[in-house]
Amino acid sequence: MAKKIEQKGRLIRMDDFPSGDKKRNKDWNILSNILKIFENYHVNYLLATSPMLYDGDTQKEKINSPHIKFLKDNVITGKIVMHGFNHGFHLHWDSIVETWEKGGEFMNMSHEEINSKYEMCDKILSCLNNYDPSHFVPPFNAVNQNLLDVLNTKETKFIHLNSFFNAQYDSLDFYDIELLIAENAKTYADSSVILENIYDYDEVITMHWVYDQNYQCIEDISKIVSKK
Ligand SMILES: [Zn+2]
Repeated sequence: MAKKIEQKGRLIRMDDFPSGDKKRNKDWNILSNILKIFENYHVNYLLATSPMLYDGDTQKEKINSPHIKFLKDNVITGKIVMHGFNHGFHLHWDSIVETWEKGGEFMNMSHEEINSKYEMCDKILSCLNNYDPSHFVPPFNAVNQNLLDVLNTKETKFIHLNSFFNAQYDSLDFYDIELLIAENAKTYADSSVILENIYDYDEVITMHWVYDQNYQCIEDISKIVSKK
């Protein structure tokens, strides 16, 4: 039975570096501008990243990629956390939606495959001072038991989810990993919607820079959370 533990303090989770969505503008300057706002207001934030999407094939090549350079240059006070491995972006968009109930990116992966991919991503991210392995952000908020079995053997303490899938989470064993569930369409939404709901819900705020570039709203949110 999944249990939800109340989040202490107000945390912002920014997903999708790099974004693999082929239909969207992925100009990293946009993300850089948003991160500057977070940093200016000393926001307690996480940037969720998928290391298998970095340039290069080998671990060494990925560590030397422009992706790692971007993270080093732009995430100074925030934390960098793992957002799956390749986010399932090798699959077609329609099919990944159909896989959400079965674990999205992790569907059809054995424990061994999940473990070896986790280990490679963990080694890549370990070159960053502010990588925090205690948080895991599953792509599309999709999880399955094999993933949780593996995360239970790692340093994972918190898993970030979306309330839309609450019924699915109830059937899974999360061991002692705490669920940080953002409220779908309230605090897991475009920044203008988050701003409307920010005082009514105190869960983790979840944003997606590729789909939401409202700098003014993001700054207003940053001002509010940085006062708490
Ligand atoms: Zn994502």
